[in-house]
Amino acid sequence: MEYKIDTKSVQAGYSPKNGEPRVIPIVQSTTFKYESSEAMGKLFDLEASGYFYTRLQNPTNDYVAAKIAAMEGGVGAMLTSSGQAASFFSVFNICTAGDHAVASAAIYGGTFNLFSVTMKKMGIEFTFVSPDASEEELNAAFRENTKVVFAETLSNPALQVLDIEKFAKVAHAHGVPLIVDNTFPTPVNCRPFEFGADIVTHSTTKYMDGHASSVGGVIVDSGNFDWTKYPEKFGCLIEPDESYHGISYTERFGKLAYITKATAQLMRDLGSIQAPQHAFLINNGLESLPLRMKKHCENAMAVAEYLQKNDKIEWVNYPGLKGNAYYELAQKYMPNGTCGVVSFGVKGGREAATRFMDSLKLAAIVTHVADARTCVLHPASTTHRQLSDEQLRECGVSPDLIRFSCGIENAEDIIADIEQALNNI
Ligand code: PLP
Repeated sequence: MEYKIDTKSVQAGYSPKNGEPRVIPIVQSTTFKYESSEAMGKLFDLEASGYFYTRLQNPTNDYVAAKIAAMEGGVGAMLTSSGQAASFFSVFNICTAGDHAVASAAIYGGTFNLFSVTMKKMGIEFTFVSPDASEEELNAAFRENTKVVFAETLSNPALQVLDIEKFAKVAHAHGVPLIVDNTFPTPVNCRPFEFGADIVTHSTTKYMDGHASSVGGVIVDSGNFDWTKYPEKFGCLIEPDESYHGISYTERFGKLAYITKATAQLMRDLGSIQAPQHAFLINNGLESLPLRMKKHCENAMAVAEYLQKNDKIEWVNYPGLKGNAYYELAQKYMPNGTCGVVSFGVKGGREAATRFMDSLKLAAIVTHVADARTCVLHPASTTHRQLSDEQLRECGVSPDLIRFSCGIENAEDIIADIEQALNNI
């Protein structure tokens, strides 16, 4: 039976047998014991499945990954040590030096740096497009060697809603998968696979953990992309992998080819596994995720409506507000709500913004976003400070943008805090 998302968030991924722990156990062990070298050898050749070293796989992580895969509607998932590692691995799993990728410019500043600076040094070149690009504009960004399209469902911090179906259609017409970072809406509010995305990534550090206690990431595979249709592009999944005695991932693992390669090859060689302790904490967060997302969205809507009426505010951006440029797309892809983040500008520019932020008492200035406690940030001088003014504009981040992340406190208290801070401008 296919359970609803709020049942999956509590129950999916782990089914204890008779006498086993009811709660996902933390398997705090780097290694796993075997009776013979031969039995262990089979694991090294991917001939048998099982655990041997936590740098590649650990049962706690796998229970939690299986839960997230179920919530997203995918066939398999892999936890990573951070959202950054998830973004990197998701692309690097199918791209190599000399390849090209298309990415939405409206993505988290850290991902933009990863793609435009660090991965460029590795020989992988990105072309950035507007999330609002027409099909023609998207088509124009593709090259002979394009291997993937990457975008965020709800961009951090500009809150631009991706037209997932349009991006998936164009990516598929060029024979490449669409990877979507679904961190802000979470699978509770948006399930990109239902609209044609092929791979989903998350910074689990955000709403999934929800308590700002552990950094982590996840990659989820829908199993829907047929790699074998494009052997000239995805030989890395089809042709024999010499580092595993010549197995072909698509032949051996079918729909799980992509996620198995990410685990067996990238995790083996690059590390970056999530600590089992963190996986345990993220699972605690997942259990209450549907309840928290509802409250985050209610609070954000109340704050956005309050800000919209306040004459000290220059502009407000929340896709749940009627009249917002992304309202219709948000209704289509996230009908139950978007997320708890509202962005806005105060009249008086940067100086007024700083005075406003410094006057807040309940909302804390932190780099973080998307957890139970209300927090606030000025991206242009923090998370996005490496970006030029032009890059900032491309990402949809104006210099006066304040990112306000509504927690799950009482909305009246959050609004009262904003009001007293605005009175100090
Ligand atoms: N993706 C999005 C949308 C993010 O907001 C972030 C971090 O803010 C990341 C990825 C990177 O995640 P992490 O900080 O867990 O490495």
